[in-house]
Amino acid sequence: MVQQAPPDTSRLMVDFVQMKGFGDDPLILERGEGIRVTDVFGTTYIDGLSGVFTVNLGHGIAELADVAAEQARQIAFTAPTMATNPRALELAELLIGITPEQYSTVKFFSGGSEATEAAIKLARQYWQQAGHPRKYKIISRYRAYHGGTGFAMAASAQTEWKAKFEPFAPGFVHVTPPARPGCAACRRADGCTLACLDLIEEAIVNEHPESVAAVIAEPVMLSAGVHVPHPDYFPGLRELCDRYGVLLIFDEIITGFGRTGRLFGAERVGAWPDILACGKGISGGYAPLSAILIADRVAEAFWGDPEQGVQFWAGHTFGGNPVACAVGAAAIRYLLDHDLVANADAVGGHLADRLRDIAADRPAIAEVRGVGMLRGVAFHEPIGTAVAAAARARGLLLRPGADWVGVAPPLCTTPDEADEIADLVAAAVDAVA
Ligand code: PLP
Repeated sequence: MVQQAPPDTSRLMVDFVQMKGFGDDPLILERGEGIRVTDVFGTTYIDGLSGVFTVNLGHGIAELADVAAEQARQIAFTAPTMATNPRALELAELLIGITPEQYSTVKFFSGGSEATEAAIKLARQYWQQAGHPRKYKIISRYRAYHGGTGFAMAASAQTEWKAKFEPFAPGFVHVTPPARPGCAACRRADGCTLACLDLIEEAIVNEHPESVAAVIAEPVMLSAGVHVPHPDYFPGLRELCDRYGVLLIFDEIITGFGRTGRLFGAERVGAWPDILACGKGISGGYAPLSAILIADRVAEAFWGDPEQGVQFWAGHTFGGNPVACAVGAAAIRYLLDHDLVANADAVGGHLADRLRDIAADRPAIAEVRGVGMLRGVAFHEPIGTAVAAAARARGLLLRPGADWVGVAPPLCTTPDEADEIADLVAAAVDAVA
């Protein structure tokens, strides 16, 4: 039922948003269908960022709700410390079946940070058990976001989000990412020289390869402002990691499950990691679920007799939850059966063309970036928050950044809906710039 008086939100902390300001103009979403969501006041918005890059399949899919209800009726919880369940086993098989042969082992969690945190722990424990106990350092890129837990945030480098909690654990080294501004090579008139890759090599060498456990990277950096690297960057990084004996971890929390117009971002950037962390879109938002996929050569160090104690010492209460896994498997089948990855590629390309059209006669727009259904509109001035607010006032939800907005609607978006989104972005920019 549509409510008229604004509900009291003062008891609830909302992520990263000042409670007072939120209460003045709350967004309280009640229902969703396709790419649209409706709030308790009856206002409908286009969900231009898929929740948070999560609702890949669209809202209101009854068959996924039915899967959750059916599984909860059968058994809703199994203790992850001493048991598993058929749904977790099925989902593990499904994930192994849709990824390259090297991935042999899966571990489930319930959020992206748990997955990246575990990937870092796994890399450290791996080297202890592979005869290199001094390899513990993690190299990551400035302006990355890998999650809110201790190690995940230590690897992240969004200054504003970290500053409140410093200092972080030692052993985390940051390098400049392939993202403007910052990369000297990217600013050169003659274009990219992959100096950002040299920086990673320098970090490995200067820290000493015998102390470096892993490099962690998002295939497409989202929080830094939707930056797609040069096509040679990730193949080069893969080669570097192999040459120096360093594990490569991909944070595919956003790029996994079709967002880039490929099933995984790894496919898009032309290199596969030793540990692949995924979340968000794995369940399409219909259940809290995340996972790490582990390459066989890493996983085998965790396979031994009970007295060897080589099992992975990490786990969480809701990891491998039967409801989450049942929904995850159904969501992946839905993604594949409805060919939504190809749709994300095609309609995402159309959306980018339309955004470039509107950029052509709007000098405030510096650039349209991204790939698949993961796009960013960058501005010359820090007007991202104002543009996102103007878009919301016109019925479109976007991801605000300081000088950019993220545009990432569900993968089921049609060309007409993409046109509608681009027109609303244009109107929002016109209102602000
Ligand atoms: N990694 C990336 C690239 C993310 O964007 C996020 C969250 O937005 C995370 C990790 C953390 O995921 P979660 O918020 O589910 O813990």
